[in-house]
Amino acid sequence: MATAGIFDVVVVGGGPAGSVMAWSLARRGVRVAVLERATFPREKVCGDFVEPAGLRILEAMGCEQAFAAPARLPITTNRVYFGPRLVYHGNIPYYEGGHGLPTHGYIIPRYELDTLLLQRAETASAQVFQACAATDVRREGSLMLVNVRGEKGGFELRSRLVIGADGAESTVARSAGLRRTDRRHIGISQRGYVEGVSIEGGEATIWFDEDQVPGYGWIFPMPGGLANVGVGMLSESCDRFNLSVPKAFRDSIERLRIRHPGCKDMRLTSRSVGGVVKMYGGIDRNHFDGGLLIGDAGSFVDPMTGEGITQGMESALIALQTVLDALEKGRFDATFLSRFDRDFRSYFDPAMLYLGLCAVMMRNWHFREFWWRSTLHGFEKAQNDPAFARVSGSAFGGLNLQPQAIVAQIWSSIFTHLAQGGTQAIGDLMSGRGFRSSRLAGDIVAWERAWSCSLEDDPGWHYSWLADLVRTLARALPTLLTTHNPRVRGPLGAVEGVQAADMPVSLDIGASPQELDSGEERRSSVGLVGTILDLGTSALGLLGNVLQDVSASQRSRDKTAAVGNPGAPLSALAGQALQAVQAVYQANERPSHDQAGNPRPYQRRWRAKE
Ligand SMILES: Cc1cc2nc3c(=O)[nH]c(=O)nc-3n(C[C@H](O)[C@H](O)[C@H](O)COP(=O)(O)OP(=O)(O)OC[C@H]3O[C@@H](n4cnc5c(N)ncnc54)[C@H](O)[C@@H]3O)c2cc1C
Repeated sequence: MATAGIFDVVVVGGGPAGSVMAWSLARRGVRVAVLERATFPREKVCGDFVEPAGLRILEAMGCEQAFAAPARLPITTNRVYFGPRLVYHGNIPYYEGGHGLPTHGYIIPRYELDTLLLQRAETASAQVFQACAATDVRREGSLMLVNVRGEKGGFELRSRLVIGADGAESTVARSAGLRRTDRRHIGISQRGYVEGVSIEGGEATIWFDEDQVPGYGWIFPMPGGLANVGVGMLSESCDRFNLSVPKAFRDSIERLRIRHPGCKDMRLTSRSVGGVVKMYGGIDRNHFDGGLLIGDAGSFVDPMTGEGITQGMESALIALQTVLDALEKGRFDATFLSRFDRDFRSYFDPAMLYLGLCAVMMRNWHFREFWWRSTLHGFEKAQNDPAFARVSGSAFGGLNLQPQAIVAQIWSSIFTHLAQGGTQAIGDLMSGRGFRSSRLAGDIVAWERAWSCSLEDDPGWHYSWLADLVRTLARALPTLLTTHNPRVRGPLGAVEGVQAADMPVSLDIGASPQELDSGEERRSSVGLVGTILDLGTSALGLLGNVLQDVSASQRSRDKTAAVGNPGAPLSALAGQALQAVQAVYQANERPSHDQAGNPRPYQRRWRAKE
């Protein structure tokens, strides 16, 4: 196959993550190529909502024109529907400004945004290959070889490093053996464009419906009565309970016409299209020999909202430092590149692990009534209590997420609810109305019903969910003890550094070394608790898996009455026991980032080799 070029870095994928990466490298004189399967401008299935943190990055890149033409509506207010009920209507409470953040988001159609970003990369001297799909990536000696299928036939690119920024179905991740298909961490969404919408200013609307759980829907207004409408749900629940996202989309359009005063005359102007997102926490590692995974390819999507444009750009800026150091030192092995994982975890974990924990709690479909009731209380409280709205509301798209403060607010609300509910329940009992009439009693009954339904429906799944929940809690525990959230300041140090010099910059991820050190201490101080929890959850997970196997084999016996393989359950049990032990060891492994500990250092630098 013909070799079309030799580069320092090949970035596969020209979406926001890939373009930001290519732009920041090219500006420093790194020879970078971008391979993009589509020809731009192209459509991308998306809600098009760019949150303030994303706008801050676009502004730093000099992309202000994305906000200006045609006139955008700054998204500052929000309506929230629970079924037909409007439960919140007002300012988006956590868009507070500060740290260079605007106090609004924008809806920027992706055919505009992505085209602009790719142009920025090209102007900075990245070589862009459009209509060229990477089909395979492999390592040969010290080089990465990327096979490409272009319009005029196949060719090959060579480079020292490959950055996988090719979205949720990443070819690079697949080639590196890192593509994940775990439905617990995958969201399925459907969106379309509508016209005839009459919404005042930049008011976003989201809704929660009991038959679309866990998930939500949105309508994001654009100028001229246009809007982006969509729904998203967890893939695992769709699979287990035969839920259809296209049906949820159609139902949502009908319901919006009835519920929302501005949507009576709404008409679809486009085909509705589906897509998937891969949530943060759904991948073990984002590095491999000769490359990194960023954006959707590396699972950086917010597990609660499904937003990933900003997170993808942030992941690119965080990866920048590792890439520059690798080129500088001539080190392209996985051990050296693992530094990226350490960097992005320091940056994202304080907020994302908490969001991941919320997502795990909500993924038990049987608890939908309970969560529905609790979240409804939350939105009602938020409507009348701005401090609560600002702090706890930030779990749904807020940047300044402070898990510790949220947990404190939630506990305080629970105690108040218990006290008020308890008093009311005693009053009800004494007046003969009975215990079940109070709101608190309704919550307790909803919990009890959910628990027994979940257990009866599939005990194996129930215990493995419980194990997952405890394990996620154990991981999130250190972040619940800290108020430190580097995302607030953002990865802009890297962007600013680019303008200042073309030497490697120190990546400003908002945390001083002392802060990171004390974070490490906090992590080790909860290490013992974590180990105990891990052991417990592994045992619980093992029990869950065994029960799942037993109920699956029971079902298959019932269906076919066929003779099974008697050795299978035993070997599965042994395999699972081994997995559980491995999981405990892996959980306690402390990856070494000590330079001296890196094996087989490359002695030559890339440029020296040419
Ligand atoms: C329905 C839906 C609604 C969403 N709404 C929002 C929202 O409102 N706000 C938000 O922030 N996020 C939203 N997201 C998530 C967001 O779309 C993604 O997180 C974001 O696009 C990730 O950017 P990326 O650059 O990593 O990947 P992508 O944007 O997917 O870009 C990947 C690029 O790689 C190219 N590519 C793929 N394979 C190859 C290959 N083999 N060779 C070469 N090129 C290749 C693709 O053509 C594409 O251009 C939504 C997602 C969906 C599905």
